Amino acid sequence: MKRRKRIVIALGGNALGNTLPEQMAAVKTTARAIVDLIEEGCEVVVAHGNGPQVGMINNAMIALTHEDLAQPNTPLSVCVAMSQAYIGYDLQNALREELLNRNIPNIPVATMITQIRVDENDPAFSSPSKPIGKFMDAEEAKEVAHKYDYVMKEDAGRGYRRVVASPKPVEIIEIETIRTMVDAGDLVIACGGGGIPVVRKGNHLKGASAVIDKDFASCLLAKELNADSLIILTAVEKVAVNFGKPNEAWLDELSAAQAQQLISEGHFAPGSMLPKVEAALDFAVSGEGRTAIITQLEKSREAIQGKTGTVFHA
Ligand code: ADP
Ligand code: MG
Repeated sequence: MKRRKRIVIALGGNALGNTLPEQMAAVKTTARAIVDLIEEGCEVVVAHGNGPQVGMINNAMIALTHEDLAQPNTPLSVCVAMSQAYIGYDLQNALREELLNRNIPNIPVATMITQIRVDENDPAFSSPSKPIGKFMDAEEAKEVAHKYDYVMKEDAGRGYRRVVASPKPVEIIEIETIRTMVDAGDLVIACGGGGIPVVRKGNHLKGASAVIDKDFASCLLAKELNADSLIILTAVEKVAVNFGKPNEAWLDELSAAQAQQLISEGHFAPGSMLPKVEAALDFAVSGEGRTAIITQLEKSREAIQGKTGTVFHA
């Protein structure tokens, strides 16, 4: 029997929504797209982001410290862990239901709480760059910056947001368990929100105040699972050069050399498209026959059939 193609899917913000009801609705569409790929004969592993959710949880935990002075502020690593469980819960249920609706009864679905080791000397810790949580006006931003020692930054004319360090993922702590589950045929959700960032202190893993980019975490997961493809699902069908300009052009495929060239020419916005292109490129050159695709959630079946998306190859 032909080996099934193993793919790691990285879900972006639009696959999960911004609020509890939005997420509940969004995961249904997301589950359809994922089960489409299983019907296409792929073995699927799911990773996802957590930008709005981790911000929301962080705000809720801050509110708790206001309500109850005995409650200290919750570390960001704990907020990431909470976001993994909450998103995993919704995704798990939606996937289970979609599989049953299509008469695919024999695929167990489970979420793996995943810690990812980062380097405590990663330069990202001294220059926070990843926006999380809600937008605030200048006054509110100043207040929380003072109260909680947050770094606040203006985000593309849309207001102020908290920015946190986004170090590179080094090692997936639970990788052996994830591999065992995937090899057994389970549909696994792992490395949610980029993984819970931890640093090693002897035998102890200490939570780090950071959020790892889910695009890089998914790339590491795909490498570790020896996947054939990394599929990054986002809000656009393809990657563009001159994005948003009159001479904008959508790309069907990119070799490693072309991708490098376009990165150096600044075609991809840092914090949104740049990490995706970097992760796709990194995976595509990491082993024989590996490819990466960036496309839209709704287009994932067509993308796996080679009909759309931007494909990265060595
Ligand atoms: P996600 O939540 O999926 O990680 P992001 O909003 O972080 O999504 O990044 C995807 C967005 O990046 C697109 O919706 C688009 O607005 C923006 N973008 C920036 N540069 C480009 C580019 N060169 N080509 C396509 N999209 C781009
Ligand atoms: Mg993003």
